[in-house]
Amino acid sequence: VNSSSKPDISRAKSAELYEKSKTFFPGGVNSPVRAFKSVYGTPLFIQKGDGCFIWDADGNQFIDFCASWGPLILGHNNSKIREKVIDVMQNGMSFGAPTALENELAELIIKHNKYVEKIRFTSSGTEAVMSAIRLARGYTKRDKIIKFEGCYHGHSDSLLVKAGSGLVTFGETSSAGVPKSFAEETIVIALHDKAAITQAFQQFKDQIAAVIIEGIPANNGLLIQDQDYIEFLRAACTENGALLIFDEVITGFRVGLEGAAAYYGIKPDILTYGKIIGGGLPVGMYGSSAEIMGHISPDGGVYQAGTLSGNPVAMAAGIATLTELTKSGFYKDLNAKTLEFAESIQRFATARNYKFKVFSVGSIFWFAFTEAEKIQTAEAIDASSMEKFKIMHRELLNRGIYLGPSGYEVGFVSAAHTKVELEKAKRAIFDALDLVF
Ligand code: PLP
Repeated sequence: VNSSSKPDISRAKSAELYEKSKTFFPGGVNSPVRAFKSVYGTPLFIQKGDGCFIWDADGNQFIDFCASWGPLILGHNNSKIREKVIDVMQNGMSFGAPTALENELAELIIKHNKYVEKIRFTSSGTEAVMSAIRLARGYTKRDKIIKFEGCYHGHSDSLLVKAGSGLVTFGETSSAGVPKSFAEETIVIALHDKAAITQAFQQFKDQIAAVIIEGIPANNGLLIQDQDYIEFLRAACTENGALLIFDEVITGFRVGLEGAAAYYGIKPDILTYGKIIGGGLPVGMYGSSAEIMGHISPDGGVYQAGTLSGNPVAMAAGIATLTELTKSGFYKDLNAKTLEFAESIQRFATARNYKFKVFSVGSIFWFAFTEAEKIQTAEAIDASSMEKFKIMHRELLNRGIYLGPSGYEVGFVSAAHTKVELEKAKRAIFDALDLVF
């Protein structure tokens, strides 16, 4: 072991804010993972961000690999996004009526994404997926959906369902407050299991409206699926009259302009996006062929709406972001930088025989405490290894590196991470690994 533990950073101000926030919010937070329940210490209250850096309330500076859970592909406080947002805000912030900005963002998305002909904006990924499921049900006139264990699709009722026991089961609710009868419409299957899909389609013949999968599952580790498995899902849906939904809330505009669909070269029937298309402001989106989207109200009978859907300020942030992403070479540079980062950490760990793997795709990476060459199912993740992540997380915070506060979460490299910061981050990660093992 080459390194020694660093003293803990001061969290006095964060701790004070946390004490206060606990009087207002359950667990002191407005989204559970922020409460730092799976890592050491008090949650850090963030005061500002700039480029690849964030600063907490105590003035600690970190190189940030959480990126607000993915949206900030250009880094924090990007001047082009900020200027566009301020410019649009001068004219008011919400009208609940159409604006030209919605057309502008939609055009940027549709022009660069051959998988959608028409889209609808929402204000979150959860809403986008929830609406996509309703559309699939309305279109197919069927009620059941298949989802995969280890995929997260937001917190709507149908999707807060986990696997029961056995190969193909009705799901069990994974949240209090979700009626059992709702969960019974969701069939939960392990990823990477073709036989279970075949069985589900036989068992629930003509009842399955859709199969939903994260394009590249990235909410329970990074579970990169084989090409032939995704092709199999595509074929199974087509054969059985079900729609294939790719939830690209993370992968959309992250692994490339056309997301996971283009990564696999497979055309899903409905796609959902979020995060990056809002440039850090609340935007979600679902899209499909003009024919399928024709079933959405007011043209069709599937109802979906939103007071702040297509909000001009959020559209402005999305437009500024996508304008940068659609410039030539953007993804080539970002992905190459991430690959180099991931590979050099892997080389370090391998040279020392640490049971540690860096999985990565595009500018997404995941640190796994494992010997396995591939991890493709939620079950393959060793829960006890999360103790190691906890140590790593603390050591990294103490060295100025911020990762999402859970070992099941992936990290993101942004265009704002330069070689200098990635080198600094690598050295900190090497030290942390020496301490973990
Ligand atoms: N789908 C996926 C794949 C996600 O990763 C998330 C959020 O992380 C969602 C849906 C829900 O999006 P939101 O948190 O914007 O509601």
